[in-house]
Amino acid sequence: MKEIRTRFAPSPTGYLHIGGLRTALYTYLIAKKNKGKFLLRIEDTDQDRYVEGATEVIYNTLRLVGLNHDEGPDIGGPYGPYIQSERKPVYLKYAKELVEKGGAYYCFCSKERLDQLRDEAVKSNKAFGYDGHCRELSGQEVEEKLKSGIPWVIRQKIPRTGTTSFHDELFGTITVENSTLDDGILLKSDGMPTYNLANVIDDHLMKINPVVRGSEYLSSTPRYNLIYEAFGWEIPKYIHLSPVMREPGKKLSKRDGDASFDDFYSKGYLKEAIINYVALLGWSPGDDREFFTMEELVEAFDIKGLSKSPAIFDINKLRWMNGEYIKKLSLEEFHEMALPYYREAGLPEEMNLMLLSSLVQGRTEVLNEIPAMVSFLAELPEYEAALFVHKKSRTTLENSLENLAKAIEVLEQVEDWTEDSLHKALFDLIAELGVRNSQVLWPVRIAASGKLVTPGGAIEILTLLGREETMRRLRIGRELLQKAQKE
Ligand code: GLU
Repeated sequence: MKEIRTRFAPSPTGYLHIGGLRTALYTYLIAKKNKGKFLLRIEDTDQDRYVEGATEVIYNTLRLVGLNHDEGPDIGGPYGPYIQSERKPVYLKYAKELVEKGGAYYCFCSKERLDQLRDEAVKSNKAFGYDGHCRELSGQEVEEKLKSGIPWVIRQKIPRTGTTSFHDELFGTITVENSTLDDGILLKSDGMPTYNLANVIDDHLMKINPVVRGSEYLSSTPRYNLIYEAFGWEIPKYIHLSPVMREPGKKLSKRDGDASFDDFYSKGYLKEAIINYVALLGWSPGDDREFFTMEELVEAFDIKGLSKSPAIFDINKLRWMNGEYIKKLSLEEFHEMALPYYREAGLPEEMNLMLLSSLVQGRTEVLNEIPAMVSFLAELPEYEAALFVHKKSRTTLENSLENLAKAIEVLEQVEDWTEDSLHKALFDLIAELGVRNSQVLWPVRIAASGKLVTPGGAIEILTLLGREETMRRLRIGRELLQKAQKE
């Protein structure tokens, strides 16, 4: 059996779109499942779209998520170069060969002539297609024009009649009327190929099979097959992947900040969670498993589980899954990841942040939620006395004031400010007063945090804040309650 060789062939746009990441992942999995090779090829023939540093973004992202390629521009390989802009001589050679074989022709039409054709098409409401003006030039005419230095391109010579079919592993057999395909440009006047030529030449020379790519290429695949046929090359298997959408009919867009891998990674989604979620966007393992490591994906992946319909990107599902990945981290791992966010929230260095991490880990879905969750520890937020009144805890303004005042008295006597001593002091007080736990703990926690919802309870928060800050905050709470009662 021939070796399975797949390639991911991004255009360097400066970011890796979630749909692109998914294509890369499936392409990788298909190769690895079959013990084959996974290649990276950079498709940068559209130099107008050149973005500085864009190829590094691709290398770095693929490496970060563990989609390691076996051949590619940065590591080389037997079929290089793997950057299309460095392969110009190859395309020129094959474009000329294609002309000789009758699959393409030189076109000398001027920009003015083409603009005019386009204008006419617009006026008569037709799709623009080249009219074949240069298609039947004789060999001699071509020679003369080439000699006289008129700029030229090479166009594909599409049969005027008949149909072209191809088979896609997912979408089945697709047939198009040749009359619907125009004689598109294969090699531009600057010697750069278009995608239409480059993809065929490269996939053939790099021995790619199957070809895996987005379904936006489905409709032009017949063109590519005509080129394979003109060269007499073996046509690869095709696997076209359905798009990833935000909702039916709406794409994920870079502008909305939810389209690229980095948009998510930089917000504090874990790379493992992103990959896991992306794997399930349009693929199902055939059972109800949801959590996969990369190794497990390689094991479980089968193109039979791919879906033809567009995949809907469900941010809530990703959030949930990310939360599950965060819960599975060790406390130390989580702590390392949380530290920059504690810094962002302005937490004092001397705070027992490991204790904080143990409180925050289970409540975090995305790391960038952490500052809002913990910033009350850096600064007491403004709050209303009404927060002290909590039906379920059986607290009122009156009993909150009473119990908070007593709590302040006993806390002033606590000698070593540890979780254990604070626990003992407050529970002794609760026993002495004969009240519910919540009737002391609720007002203490509200006064210490100024927030209805906090990670951790009263005792943990007091421990984190330390004696001085705790006492300052509890006194503020007491004043607030006193004022509220006078009103
Ligand atoms: N360079 C193409 C793109 O970024 C990919 C085409 C392919 O995979 O064949 O859309």
